[in-house]
Amino acid sequence: MSGMSRREFLRRSVASGVAGGVVLSGAGKVAAGVAGGQQVATVIDLSKCDGCGGREVPECVAACRTANGARFPEPEGPIHDYWPQKKHEDWSQKRHLTNRLTPYNWLFVQRVDVSHEGKTSTVFVPRRCMHCDNPPCANLCPFSAQEKTPEGPVLIDPNICFGGAKCRDVCPWSIPQRQAGVGLYMKVAPRYLGGGVMYKCDLCYDRITKGQLPACVEACPRQALSFGSREEMQQLAASRAKEIQGFIYGDRENGGTSTWYVSPVPFTAIHQALQAKDMKPGMPVAVDNYMDSFEGMAKGLLLAPFAGAVAAGVAAYRTLRKGE
Ligand code: SF4
Ligand code: SF4
Ligand code: SF4
Repeated sequence: MSGMSRREFLRRSVASGVAGGVVLSGAGKVAAGVAGGQQVATVIDLSKCDGCGGREVPECVAACRTANGARFPEPEGPIHDYWPQKKHEDWSQKRHLTNRLTPYNWLFVQRVDVSHEGKTSTVFVPRRCMHCDNPPCANLCPFSAQEKTPEGPVLIDPNICFGGAKCRDVCPWSIPQRQAGVGLYMKVAPRYLGGGVMYKCDLCYDRITKGQLPACVEACPRQALSFGSREEMQQLAASRAKEIQGFIYGDRENGGTSTWYVSPVPFTAIHQALQAKDMKPGMPVAVDNYMDSFEGMAKGLLLAPFAGAVAAGVAAYRTLRKGE
């Protein structure tokens, strides 16, 4: 890439519809597509990710923290326990952690030794929200604080979330992370309501709607992360899997997602290796969507009238905020 910075390369590449060797929709087209509701997705290629060996913090993780730092929570004290439970979740003194998901770290990379067909290989697995097709986190949020956008990303509105953590309970990978001492509950009843705000990756929604790449995708030096239209990413995942005679994760899991992992070793083996070391989240293959369970359907039905009323209130609140 002589004579051209990576940023400039990406800018030009994206403008011409190519980045990291992957034909994207192109920034202009992605921006127009996102604005027009075109569905986007990502591919995480484990055959290319080396965990940024040698760097203290992987490039993708550092880029995510930089891009989203302004949105990290700034809790007010004193932080009370979650009534009636005698506990609260405060990560504000552990902001430096990069080896797990927290409200201050929306992406991390697992390193695990995986045995398959008599060989053991080290696999690096970037982990963040999968942006599921039918997300139970959003469907079962009692306050409609989460939404599945038409483009694919699943967003949490920190101005509406009460931090009850229902979304984490119903996520197969327990992705959203709670910070106490922030959010609406502090204004309403800090001792008795909710417990904070939930945080997670939003696929860099602000960036992609401006025609930029997600920060982690832009930063990866090995082009292990790709972003583009859903169709292109689906094709890329299939062609990469064929090329490396590998495996795909994310197409069936939780009823389907907007994130496809590709790996040279089976995900059953990766999941077993993660479990053996008690590393979370795991990668359970073909994991069911909570919404498809009897309990999930019943809860969805019970919530429907309440959710309708809340959604109307939330829509009015959002309109008011836009006018501020
Ligand atoms: S995805 Fe890219 S930036 Fe992230 S750890 Fe892997 S090689 Fe590094
Ligand atoms: S991965 Fe979890 S938090 Fe993300 S959309 Fe799916 S269910 Fe929701
Ligand atoms: S898409 Fe954006 S928010 Fe999500 S992990 Fe990557 S950099 Fe972080």
